[in-house]
Amino acid sequence: MRVLSGIQPTGAIHWGNYFGAIRQYIALQDNEQAFYFIANLHALNAVRDAAKLRQYTFDMAVDLLALGLDPNKATLFVQSDVPEISQLCWILLTGTPMGLLERCVAYKDKIAKGQSADAGLFTYPILQAADILAYDSDTVPVGADQVQHIEVCRDVAGSFNHQFGQTFVLPKAYVLEASARVPGIDGEKMSKSYNNTLAVFEDAKTQRKQIMRIVTDSRPMEEAKEPAGDVLYDLFSLVAPESDRESMAALYRRGGFGYGEVKKALADAAEKFWAEPRARRAELAANPKQIHEILAAGAAKARKKASEVLARAQRACGIAAS
Ligand code: ATP
Ligand code: MG
Repeated sequence: MRVLSGIQPTGAIHWGNYFGAIRQYIALQDNEQAFYFIANLHALNAVRDAAKLRQYTFDMAVDLLALGLDPNKATLFVQSDVPEISQLCWILLTGTPMGLLERCVAYKDKIAKGQSADAGLFTYPILQAADILAYDSDTVPVGADQVQHIEVCRDVAGSFNHQFGQTFVLPKAYVLEASARVPGIDGEKMSKSYNNTLAVFEDAKTQRKQIMRIVTDSRPMEEAKEPAGDVLYDLFSLVAPESDRESMAALYRRGGFGYGEVKKALADAAEKFWAEPRARRAELAANPKQIHEILAAGAAKARKKASEVLARAQRACGIAAS
């Protein structure tokens, strides 16, 4: 199995990123050939400040390593260090029907939330397809929001194969249902660009305050409630041990509790859950040279594979000698 996934350096990593994607990255690195990248070309659609983009990119590398990504097992690199991706992206853009991209909901959501309608944002599923196809990836661990883009990738790769002969491996999305869509503090999908996140590497005190401010419904305290689908309960179940989760669910079903109690339990569970990576992050960040070395070694490995696949595609469609 060859695994590939990317994360945009558009801001601080949040619970949704961890439970929806990064946790799977780490679980898969032991047995599989895994490529994980920091998607700075994608981030350029949203981050229009050079110093910020550089900082976010570096921070993302530190975050991933602190959470347990092991550069001796998985290949970790920055997207723009593999220029073959941009070349492959162009080849794929030719032959991509506009309608396929017009149907993508992630684009529509971002526009609805005020991001400007740039061609880069519109065509981003094809850059993402290039990312995936360049490593002959067959498995892409993602949150539910990205499943449609993996379908776009399969479509585009399938039609290229059909026109030019077998060239690309068709990938599959790998989604963990239990954490496919982590809600933000406003109940919408938690997203770096929606200002509704709980950051993983947040100071525990600040995070407690953020949790206390989560808006809840105005049900009377004595009323029983179904736990699943409640933002507080859903977040609690991500960070609390199994047994605590069961007793919290029972409390919801019984009724007679206040949300303040649940928030406190959530803040306590979160503090415990994130304590170790938070401590590890501080150590890693103190040695930036080591981080840059890890990324350079990762880029060299990624380029080797991507240039093989690019050459294959160039030969197939006639822009290189066969
Ligand atoms: P942006 O707002 O810049 O798009 P994001 O928070 O959506 O940022 P991405 O970098 O786009 O994060 O996505 C990284 C990975 O995290 C993807 O695999 C995506 O599916 C996953 N992911 C993002 N948000 C969530 C969420 N709320 N629940 C589960 N998975 C998520
Ligand atoms: Mg996103």
